[in-house]
Amino acid sequence: MSVSFDRIAIIGFGLIGSSLARAIRKAGIAGEIVAIDRDEAVRARVAELGLADRVVAGPEGVEGADFVILCVPVRANAGVAEAIAPHLAPGAIISDVGSVKGAVVRDVAPLLPASVHFVPAHPVAGTEHSGPDAGFAELFVNRWSILTPPPETSPEVVARVRAFWEAIGSNVEVMTPEHHDLVLAITSHVPHLIAYNIVGTAADMEKVTQGEVIKFSAGGFRDFTRIAASDPTMWRDVFLTNKDAVLEMLGRFSEDLLALQRMIRWGDGDALHALFTRTRAIRRGIIASGQETAAPNFGRQPDPLPKPDPAGGNQ
Ligand code: NAP
Repeated sequence: MSVSFDRIAIIGFGLIGSSLARAIRKAGIAGEIVAIDRDEAVRARVAELGLADRVVAGPEGVEGADFVILCVPVRANAGVAEAIAPHLAPGAIISDVGSVKGAVVRDVAPLLPASVHFVPAHPVAGTEHSGPDAGFAELFVNRWSILTPPPETSPEVVARVRAFWEAIGSNVEVMTPEHHDLVLAITSHVPHLIAYNIVGTAADMEKVTQGEVIKFSAGGFRDFTRIAASDPTMWRDVFLTNKDAVLEMLGRFSEDLLALQRMIRWGDGDALHALFTRTRAIRRGIIASGQETAAPNFGRQPDPLPKPDPAGGNQ
């Protein structure tokens, strides 16, 4: 299905908002792109980069838009929805990109006028960088975008939003907000928490100096630091709004960690080997499905100053 909108308004021009603007431009699926951001410096940068046809500060920027996408931290969505509600055109489709869906549906849907359609979305694509300079048009290519429309949403509207994500390169799946939040708790939220935790623990260790943490980081730590460099506001909101599913998954994780601890204590090499063999197969499955490659930084902007790896890769 081919898709196009007369005017797409994007609110919040960080990594995701600016990537969407670039991708929409590249796909040629909007008559006009309106950028809305509260931060003057961000607006100036968006104008300088030429990412939108119009750059505005206030919620009235959504007037006349047939597609409005909220690209702000999860807990900011309700405030934004309340501000734009009086300005929305009847028949407009409203969406978001939040990493948690249950809370967005609960908080945003009641604030929108009955004359608009609300189709929440989550592109499972990102990097640890923030702001309008961090975005790139290919961010969503061959990544999954998950739609969680309320049951009463018309199939034509859902089909239009699906076609939008497909036009910018995404694969699309539709599910309930509850299922989304459970799946993402284990595939994204808990892994980020583990990374934040291990980097925090290393930073606190008195017997290992900061210099050694950096020098020997290729032993595995480095990969955690990339994830643990993710936006603090975004991730604070994720954990506070997907509390139940994250706590449920953390419970399972803790049990499995205890089992691993026991295997090591009792010298159960067979059990350790069996688990590591199973997990290696999962990594190979991810590469085979195109969701990652063996090449570092695939789909991400390269580090500005790549350095040689003296320790020769992961140990
Ligand atoms: P980002 O780069 O930090 O950009 C967030 C934008 O939202 C900024 O322009 C920020 O403006 C604005 N904002 C923050 N609080 C606001 C408020 N109360 N009212 C209005 N605007 C506000 O973040 P991002 O990575 O693009 O994330 C945006 C959304 O995408 C989040 O909901 C996140 O869960 C979701 N998401 C992120 C990723 C990822 O990997 N990063 C992946 C998929 C989905 P200021 O500069 O003024 O703060």
